[in-house]
Parts: sequence; structure tokens; C-alpha cells
Amino acid sequence: MSETLFTKIVKREIPADILFQDDRVTAFRDIHPQAPSHVLIIPNKPIPSVNDVTPEDEAVLGYLFVVARKLAEQEGVAESGYRLLINCGDDGGQEVYHLHMHLLGGRPLGRMVARA
Ligand code: AMP
Repeated sequence: MSETLFTKIVKREIPADILFQDDRVTAFRDIHPQAPSHVLIIPNKPIPSVNDVTPEDEAVLGYLFVVARKLAEQEGVAESGYRLLINCGDDGGQEVYHLHMHLLGGRPLGRMVARA
């Protein structure tokens, strides 16, 4: 399977506004932000989607929340509130098949799902 954009961002083969990176996780600003703060937090391991998660991914997926919490503080949205979101598959609106958590904040985000 060919590499996704996000795998290339992890390897720093293409540019991104990276806010955090360690040996397990990379976080960078979304290129088309849907809120004043819109960060993508991804495991460095290229898990395509939630449908591909295995028990061995449990630790890194929990760690996404630890990084999300830190970034929410760093972005100044921890107190005002924010949304963490993971899309899966076509109906879920997933565009990039490297599992990622969206961190959105900085404005009232409204209802969880827009009416179609
Ligand atoms: P999703 O629909 O959950 O798969 O989200 C994919 C997200 O990736 C969208 O919000 C895009 O704006 C964002 N995106 C696509 N390409 C890039 C890129 N090169 N750098 C940063 N974000 C990107």
C-alpha cells in the first residue's frame, strides 16, 4: 500500500506545521482549519483507520489523549473547551487513511453532528 500524506509528514518528507513529535506520536496543524485551533494528532505507526486497530495499538491510542490534553493547554482552549474527533470510513468522512484525532477549539462548536 502506498504511503499517505500523513506518513510522509511523520517522516518529515513533506512540510507541516508540527507542534509536537516524539517516537510514538506526531501533531500538526490542519491545513484547512475548521476552528481557530485545529490540530491533527496521529500515531507515527500508519494505522489506516479505527477499523484496523488491534490490541497492540491500545497504548499508543491512549497516548493520543495524553498529547491532546497537553496541546489543548498549549493552544489555550483547555478551559474554554474543545472537541476530539476521529473519522472512520466513507460515511464517517475520513479522507486520509492514516488514523488521526482532530483537536478543535477556540470557538463554540455547536451540535456534535450537523443535520444532513
Ligand atoms: P479526515 O476527513 O478526518 O480524514 O481529515 C483529514 C484532514 O486532513 C482534513 O481536515 C484536511 O484538511 C487535513 N489535511 C489534508 N492534507 C493535509 C496536510 N498536508 N497537512 C495538514 N492537514 C492536512
